[in-house]
Parts: sequence; C-alpha cells; structure tokens
Amino acid sequence: MNTGKLPKLIYPGPGAGYSYHNHSILSDGESTPEEMCRAAKKAGLKEFGLSDHYVIHPDPSLMPVDWSIDIHALDAYIARLLALKNELDDDGFTIRMGLEVDFFFENADEVLKGLEKYPLDYLIGSVHYAGTFPVDHSSAPWEVISDEEKHTICMEYWQKMKGAAQCGRFRFLGHLDLPKKFALLKDPSIYYTQAREVLDICAETGTGIELNTSGWYKPCAEQYPSFDILREAARRRVPVVINPDAHHQDHVDRGFAQAAQVVSESQAL
Ligand SMILES: [Zn+2]
Ligand SMILES: [Zn+2]
Repeated sequence: MNTGKLPKLIYPGPGAGYSYHNHSILSDGESTPEEMCRAAKKAGLKEFGLSDHYVIHPDPSLMPVDWSIDIHALDAYIARLLALKNELDDDGFTIRMGLEVDFFFENADEVLKGLEKYPLDYLIGSVHYAGTFPVDHSSAPWEVISDEEKHTICMEYWQKMKGAAQCGRFRFLGHLDLPKKFALLKDPSIYYTQAREVLDICAETGTGIELNTSGWYKPCAEQYPSFDILREAARRRVPVVINPDAHHQDHVDRGFAQAAQVVSESQAL
C-alpha cells in the first residue's frame, strides 16, 4: 500500500492513467467511495484519487453547504479510503486520498491549517463561489443578472483563482475557466489575461492545473480550461492532470483518450 503524499506534479503531467478529481456520495456524487474506487481499478487506471468537496463558506448563513462532505467527518472519510487502499492497492494500482477545497481569501489560511492534521495525499484548489454567488451550481442565477454583474462575478472568480495559485498549498487548481459552464458569457476569452496571470503564479508556486473533461458534457461543450489557456500553461511548463470530475462510477475516465490528445496538442511546440 502506497501511503506517501502525491508528489508535486512535473511538466508535462502524469497522462491519462491517473484520475485525481472525483466525487462520491459523501459530497455530491452518486456512487459510493467503494463503487468509485473499484470502477477505477476495473477501468485500468494506475492511480485514482477521491476528492470530495470540502467547503467552509466564510458567510455562516450559507453553512453547512449541502454539496460538501460533512466537515466534521473527515476521520471517517479517511478510514473508508484506507480500507479501500487495503483492499485494492497493488503494484499496478494506487488509491489517493484527496479533497477539493473551496478557496476563500477570508479563511484560506485557517481552513488549510485545519486540514494539516489529516493524512491526505493532496488538495485541489477550486472556486465555486464569487462572494455568495454560486458560479456553477445551476444556470438560474446567471440568467437573471446583467452583463455587468456577470463581468463582476467573473473578475472575482479569477481573482480568487490567483489567490488559490498563490498560496502554493494545492497540488493543482480545479476547472480553471469554470464561469463559461452554462454558455451564458458573451466572450469568455476576454478573461484570458486573468488566466495568464493565474498561470504565471502557478509556474512560480509549483501548482499544476487540470484538463477537466466534464465541460464536454455541459452547455459550454468544451473542456476546462480552453485550448488557448492550455497552450499558455504549456508555454510556462505548468503541469496538467487529466481529470473527469466524476460524480458517478461510470465516469472515472470519461473523455480521457480525447483529453490526452488535446493536452499533447497544447504541449506540442
Ligand atoms: Zn469543482
Ligand atoms: Zn469536482
């Protein structure tokens, strides 16, 4: 059983046999941790990480967040994953214990410090809120706001991604480019300047990014982040992990073949 932490990612990234962004019923997934890990082994993956949502919103009126893991039950989460490692880890397959942590400037230090006592292998840094606005939960809140308000939300989103990259405690950032999800932005590419700044910081702090394939199955019909942002990552030698952001056992490597091709095209000189 491999119990070491997930090492820092190295450019170009681990490739399609590794899947580190996945959810179970302990946050907002539809399959149990057991179903997810067994499906990953069956799919022939070399490493599989479960990374249920861990959300401590600084606005207490929004707590607890119903799509987050029970923030007081991390010992049980880890115990369940250790039992699965015991059952499934072998020379060709390793389970990793992760969390997808929501980044907030207001409490990041405290939240990350609080996680240090747990034997987690890695943390993903993600942004699902701009203030109290839920960026990706549903299209409804986007449909009732002005273009100006959308712009303010996008700018806050990218500011927070910079903060997540800067803190250097995340192995990689989750789904960069997320506000495009519902295809309700006129032109997401106007934020690429922001994306380049995030990637500059990633290069400095040794933080990776992911190609998150789930975007292909959403209204935007494009991976997160866009090809242009992946190219910019490659120019800065920021490593990329291919991830499905699976919420169901059938999706542990969804889109991986296509994703490997996109990553390699983006990294070709
Ligand atoms: Zn996410
Ligand atoms: Zn996720």
